[in-house]
Amino acid sequence: MQYPSLWDISYSVDRSEYPTRGENVKTKYALPPIAAFFIWGMGEMFSFSPRPPSSFHFNNTIFRFQVVQDMPSMEASGEACDQDAITAGTCKKFGIVVESAKEHGDEQDTAFHELLHILLGTNESDVIVTRQEFAKKLSPRLLSVIRENPALVKYLETERWDSSKRLYPPMNESEKELFLRKRLLSLLGTDSPGNACTYHQLIYRLSPERKNIFRGDILEQLR
Ligand SMILES: [Zn+2]
Repeated sequence: MQYPSLWDISYSVDRSEYPTRGENVKTKYALPPIAAFFIWGMGEMFSFSPRPPSSFHFNNTIFRFQVVQDMPSMEASGEACDQDAITAGTCKKFGIVVESAKEHGDEQDTAFHELLHILLGTNESDVIVTRQEFAKKLSPRLLSVIRENPALVKYLETERWDSSKRLYPPMNESEKELFLRKRLLSLLGTDSPGNACTYHQLIYRLSPERKNIFRGDILEQLR
């Protein structure tokens, strides 16, 4: 028996349609797909903006993750669809839709903004809370997303981090949550942490801080 070489990929043909009667036919087109795959692979290796994941999961639910050219709505650059939004009839499938932006960072910020809506519940957007309550509610949820969705984290992360630079001793679960809570509070501003705002106001405040949460040294401690 002869084995085909890599460059000489063969396939069997349907006896009823071809006169070759089940002979293996060499395809002339084996090289181009392999070359295309190689070029694609090289592009992936040196890509500075990681491809968005197609989904992520939170709270035992799978959410689609889509980056689109144009949002159906004129004013929004992103949309978050959770059970609340489905119940309210504003969307049909669990997920996040983000409009692709010229600046990759803007796209990442929008994605993070919509992720925060999902984590906090879209119908909670106008609920008034203190920053402490906000950070306390968000930190365990964000922690579970960071843990369970490496592709999403990679997409939101901006800088590569050398794990050999780890500066801190490993933390246990509750220390990790407290660390993230303090970090969220400091990013929200420490001027008057007891002042109440709506979730939406706090989400607005927090989403531009994505780079300061999805930062190699921070994530290194939370994983
Ligand atoms: Zn929003």
